[in-house]
Amino acid sequence: MGETMAAYRVVAWGRPPEMVEVPVPAVGPGQVLVEVAGCGLCHSDLTMTQMPGEIGEALGWQVPFTLGHEVAGRVVEVGADVTTVAVGEAVALTSPSSCGTCAHCRAGRDSACPHGDTGRGYGRDGGLARYVRAGSTRDLLPLGDLDPRHAGPLTDAGATSHHAVRRARAELGPGATVVVIGIGGLGSLAVQILRATTDARIVAVDTDPTRRQGALALGADEAVDEVRGTDVDAVIDIVGVDATIRRGLRALRRGGAFVLVGAGGGGFARPWMGGLPREATITPIQGPSIADARAVIDLAATGAVRVDVEEFALADVARAYRSLDAGTLTGRAVVIP
Ligand SMILES: [Zn+2]
Ligand SMILES: [Zn+2]
Repeated sequence: MGETMAAYRVVAWGRPPEMVEVPVPAVGPGQVLVEVAGCGLCHSDLTMTQMPGEIGEALGWQVPFTLGHEVAGRVVEVGADVTTVAVGEAVALTSPSSCGTCAHCRAGRDSACPHGDTGRGYGRDGGLARYVRAGSTRDLLPLGDLDPRHAGPLTDAGATSHHAVRRARAELGPGATVVVIGIGGLGSLAVQILRATTDARIVAVDTDPTRRQGALALGADEAVDEVRGTDVDAVIDIVGVDATIRRGLRALRRGGAFVLVGAGGGGFARPWMGGLPREATITPIQGPSIADARAVIDLAATGAVRVDVEEFALADVARAYRSLDAGTLTGRAVVIP
């Protein structure tokens, strides 16, 4: 195209991101250009902009790159050989990379793909710009009638929550109880996904009374300020500090499922002789699979899951990140470029 666009980029390790003028990406065979309708901001963006360069380089990330990994928009150009999406179609974009051909990918476990350390918005160009390029149609999730302006967070916050519920689901048969620790963006989604897809009794845990009220409104059966009880069938810990891990494990029954989502840096103490429930499964997850993104988009299309959004213009993205960092947002921040 030869045109340029503003993009909010990590320009060098250890430096704050900057708004930079960059070329609109050219579209090669098999590729698709999407005009961004909305891009969600994620707490992990803050982590990656403050991350030491050695970590980013060890992960294979290339600077500079455009931030933003919760992207949805409309197809504006398709490369040669693209037949499954058309110009004008609303799509969301997957953020994690995956090869599509390794044993994990072929089994639908693309969240474990060894080629998944980079993603759109972390190590590759993301959605905080007018346009974003999809390397192949494997990256695209058609949205149907769902509004692409607010669909981006479904691909990361929504899909990660869905993945957590899926990894706990085997223990959530009739009469089961599940505890969700941390009712922020992901926790709110986890409660909705549990309500929509299981009959489990849902106990929401958060120290903030407003968030507890929110959890009850979204379908939790009970909302408490800290984990209590025993013989719980599954725990989804979205905080992940020492105290939540310890209390969550103490509440879990033998053979239950503990899913660790939160990046709070907590550890597992004394794994032998009483520290961990016997025969429990402990699943650390970092990102969703494509199937999770697809499933949560389908739930959103039926109205069973929704994301509360606070909109920002691209010019206000630095202010939006400050609000995210300060914890003053009222919903998921979404930048409308
Ligand atoms: Zn994220
Ligand atoms: Zn793979």
